Amino acid sequence: ESLDKGLEKSKESFFSKLGRAVVGKSKVDDEVLDELEEVLITSDVGIETTVKIIRRIEERVARDKYLGTDELDRILREEIAALLADVDKQTNTPTQDDFSLPATKTPYVIMVVGVNGVGKTTTIGKLAAQYHKRGYKVVLGAGDTFRAAAVDQLKLWGNRVGVPVIEHGMNTDPSAVAFDAVKKAVEMQADVVIIDTAGRLHTKVNLMNELTKIKRVMQKFLPEAPHEVLLVLDGSTGQNAFIQATEFTKATDVTALAITKLDGTAKGGVVIGISDQFRIPVKYIGVGEKIEDLQTFNKMEFVDSFFK
Ligand code: GDP
Repeated sequence: ESLDKGLEKSKESFFSKLGRAVVGKSKVDDEVLDELEEVLITSDVGIETTVKIIRRIEERVARDKYLGTDELDRILREEIAALLADVDKQTNTPTQDDFSLPATKTPYVIMVVGVNGVGKTTTIGKLAAQYHKRGYKVVLGAGDTFRAAAVDQLKLWGNRVGVPVIEHGMNTDPSAVAFDAVKKAVEMQADVVIIDTAGRLHTKVNLMNELTKIKRVMQKFLPEAPHEVLLVLDGSTGQNAFIQATEFTKATDVTALAITKLDGTAKGGVVIGISDQFRIPVKYIGVGEKIEDLQTFNKMEFVDSFFK
């Protein structure tokens, strides 16, 4: 029973925590700011971004001399939306509100990275489905050759969606898989290639070497590949997601994030903290296990849902 209560508590929404933090208070003072800091941290926003948000609110309080707690909600929304917008600006990634691909880059090559269990394969399957549905020709590359299940699972998704999967089986060279997938895509005049990779964090040097090699080998065939390096993170794992982002951004140039399992958590704060801290835009969010449960990230919708 106490475990249930614990889970219940961890799932408490940002909005209700915020409500409790300001109850009985009409003005934002140091005490409210302390409470707010705790609410942000326990919502997995991360220390760095929490400090930044608190500082911005302090500045507003200092400037306007008075800030009513009834306005805190609106101001926080503004600040969080501004943080997310800043990331898009800095990375020059246009906010995408659908699954369209840039017409000039064919095939568009997406390399997908992330540790096991975060929902990498599922995200690839969902992405393939979205592109396929829009009439794009899709090729998948089973580059996570470290786990037998990963290749099989990707093949299952390929069958389900109706798109080819290039695979060489288990324990084969992932860069050869990537090369063949890109080659096949060029031959087929495919629009998009999505390449799975193995994410083994306990062998950091290998991770970097492997990802670098995959890139180098596919670049022999298509010099501008990959156009996108998509890091998949599990949004319900809090601090672990930050650690993974640190490791993967060290190992390779991550250009976009997919944050999964946001259906199972009220702690979507990871989305805010990670995109701000690493200056990488969140492009997709996973909101369930089904094929249609992948959405392109919409800042305003996200901020609204965070405050529900
Ligand atoms: P991988 O090891 O990273 O390739 O992870 P998988 O794609 O196999 O996913 C691991 C588990 O997470 C599976 O049971 C998926 O159905 C589940 N999963 C993936 N994405 C989501 C999501 O957005 N929401 C939920 N609730 N489950 C997800």
